[in-house]
Amino acid sequence: MATIFDKIIAREIPADIVFEDENVLAFRDIHPQAPVHVLFIPKRAVPTLNDLGEGDEAVVGRLAVAAAAYAKREGFADDGYRVVMNCNRDGGQTVFHIHLHLLAGRPMAWPPG
Ligand code: 5GP
Repeated sequence: MATIFDKIIAREIPADIVFEDENVLAFRDIHPQAPVHVLFIPKRAVPTLNDLGEGDEAVVGRLAVAAAAYAKREGFADDGYRVVMNCNRDGGQTVFHIHLHLLAGRPMAWPPG
């Protein structure tokens, strides 16, 4: 099922895009939870982490590589950051197109809420 992220990929709705390549799109979260809050999504729609299987390793790997490269480019890689992928109800997932949250710019608490 199409989600709001498919519309962002198709440029049907606007987003503040910070990175794009053949497989990955990254844009600022509309409700940022930290000074830096960017979502890294695969262009191929996968609803949840549970829908990944053997052969899909690169789908998530590319998100992590793109996020780390962004952190280095933006100069906060050494200070640190957090990446989060929420899955289904208990994980707090609200958009069913997998995405990696990159949060930075303030110290992060642990355990998460
Ligand atoms: P989830 O809760 O599924 O892990 O995260 C979904 C994220 O997408 C939320 O942080 C939410 O603020 C963000 N989001 C939802 N709709 C939009 C939108 O239309 N544009 C942008 N940029 N972010 C969105």
